[in-house]
Amino acid sequence: MTTQQVFAQQLAVGHFKAGAAFRIITPNPLLPVSGGIGTPKKSTEKNGELSVRALVLEKGNVRVAIVNIDNLGWPAALGNKSRALIKGIPPENILIGATHTHSGPDAYGFPNEKGESFADLKYLDDCVEKIADAVNEAIGKLEDASLKIAVGEAKGKIAYNYYADQLYDPRCGVIQAIATSGPKKGNPIATLVNYAVHPEVIGSGRGILSPDLCGPLYDRIESQGGGVALFMNGAQGGMVTADNRQENGKEASDWNECKRIGELLADEALGIVKDAAIQENPALYCVAKKIEFPVDSEIMRYILQKSPIKNEMAGENRIATQLNLLNIGTAQILTVPGEALPNIGYYVKRHMNTKQPFLFGLTNDAFGYMLTKVDFTSFKRYDYVSRTSLGEMTGEIYMEQALKLVNESPKPESNK
Ligand SMILES: [Zn+2]
Repeated sequence: MTTQQVFAQQLAVGHFKAGAAFRIITPNPLLPVSGGIGTPKKSTEKNGELSVRALVLEKGNVRVAIVNIDNLGWPAALGNKSRALIKGIPPENILIGATHTHSGPDAYGFPNEKGESFADLKYLDDCVEKIADAVNEAIGKLEDASLKIAVGEAKGKIAYNYYADQLYDPRCGVIQAIATSGPKKGNPIATLVNYAVHPEVIGSGRGILSPDLCGPLYDRIESQGGGVALFMNGAQGGMVTADNRQENGKEASDWNECKRIGELLADEALGIVKDAAIQENPALYCVAKKIEFPVDSEIMRYILQKSPIKNEMAGENRIATQLNLLNIGTAQILTVPGEALPNIGYYVKRHMNTKQPFLFGLTNDAFGYMLTKVDFTSFKRYDYVSRTSLGEMTGEIYMEQALKLVNESPKPESNK
């Protein structure tokens, strides 16, 4: 091809573009805090602000939104309301992931033993609108961009496995979109961090509303010139959590510890992506697929039946959800509709068609823990994660469907 032909083709396809925006969603007045099943606990103060963050990417006629929200989990029933308010992106190309902070308001509508739920539906509707607002603003800000992408080990005291301390994935994936023209030329528009950890330093029992370690992570990245920061969790189930262990055998569980861990993870992420090669005008691919899981667990059936937030059912005791695969430049991304155990994360990443695998956990839905059938109700340690799982086959179905999607999809660009 002549230079002119290449130029004409690029015009037809369109240059890669990125835009980002965020909204604060801290409730005023404060709302009770939910860390899972059970009645949420009254909060009396806040540490940091809860937010929703959106990164929109475009190449030619493909447009994708990646959104993260500071909450324990964000059911598709809520996500779909936002999707309906977003113009210019197909609903199935909008990925909404929860950070899994254990210090946010209840978005599941967890019923108590009497079947009552105390979720604040007005607050949730307000969040629905703010998600759409953030995405719509990011669409309006789309500008020519390049990418830097890297996956590396985040070093230092950030995460560990509470059940068996070495059994976690230290890999941190980073995607940075950089403006290639205009007044911000050369500066990051957004930095996305993908890492598996429970943001539960503060937890749900202290009467404090907080984004936990994610807040200081966003602030640090933005203060270092990384643009709008996003945090997408990974395969953090059973039981990959923040390493807030102290030498005296106790745990640090305050805002200072959130800052220590969040800022350390931010610094590691910025260090990992710093020397990555610039990807000029990278490719963008997005596919979505409906998958179904049987709901074998009594507790999960009870929540799905009694919650005022109605998820789409796929027949009696079956639930449907959306699985996404994205190729962004040299990276490949798969979503996980829950909290996959780290061994599932390793397995899926190993079979993805890239050296830069990303897993977006708790994305599009968050149906509790996802174990392999072998792990299910095995160790006594796994009693809790088995009970708060849809069933024995959840992890198996996920792995099969996810890898099928990998095999049916094109490979991302090569990153030799
Ligand atoms: Zn969890």
